[in-house]
Amino acid sequence: MEFKFVKVYPAYPRIIYITWELSGIVRSPVNFSIYRSESEYGEFTKLNDIPIINRFFYEDYTAFPLSKLFEANYKVIARDSNDRIVESQPINLLHRPEKEQFILAREEQRRLYLKFRKFSGIEVFILKKRNWGDECNTCRNLVTGETLSSSCVDCWGTGFIGGYYTPILTYVEIGPTPVVQDKTEQMGGVEPIQSTILMIARPLLSVSDIIIEKNVNKRWNVRSVELTERRHFPITQQVRVNEIEHKDVIYDFSLEEYEELDHSIYKPGSLKI
Ligand SMILES: [Zn+2]
Repeated sequence: MEFKFVKVYPAYPRIIYITWELSGIVRSPVNFSIYRSESEYGEFTKLNDIPIINRFFYEDYTAFPLSKLFEANYKVIARDSNDRIVESQPINLLHRPEKEQFILAREEQRRLYLKFRKFSGIEVFILKKRNWGDECNTCRNLVTGETLSSSCVDCWGTGFIGGYYTPILTYVEIGPTPVVQDKTEQMGGVEPIQSTILMIARPLLSVSDIIIEKNVNKRWNVRSVELTERRHFPITQQVRVNEIEHKDVIYDFSLEEYEELDHSIYKPGSLKI
């Protein structure tokens, strides 16, 4: 078990966003702890009271005022169920933005998020696909080691038990009209309906993540992600998606227990705009 990466960047609302991924052999559940030091040589203090399990990120709401932002170092410690512990290298902001650029960029994110929330957007669940964890033995070929069955309900075709991290709730804008397929060019089978989704750059999406419209339960598969940055500060993501067919097993992934999910997870109370 080791860290594949740890990334740290500022985001809207006033947070530092820390995200990571493990690789290698892992025995779940893995418990993550986030530590911060106020300066390069300072002592590290643990930030999270709530154990971080089945998540790939942490939102630090306490890194402000801004002066701290430019100095803070973070590290992530992972402990798996065999009590193996790995510690990431201390890391600071991905790119230290100039203060004004940072404020402008965050304002841009804030406006966009508010617009989605109040006018043009819809509420969605993000299912972030797992890239590490306990390998699924239900659908794995024990001879070749090859996964997968795309209809496996233990890993949802990802090869890792659970398939996805705990869902995240956010607001996005879905393209006004799905791209109309030219029927005459189709060679057998039905082309999936495509669309484009615009969202702020949190969480960062990857190909094969799933976006679920909360009200109508329509499910989309991420095909590509284009990130817009201002001076290396991630602002928005333009996400191309395919609608998933209703017969697909991912429609059995239940969101019932997440109906009351809060938009911000590590902050007491709801998100203040
Ligand atoms: Zn499986």
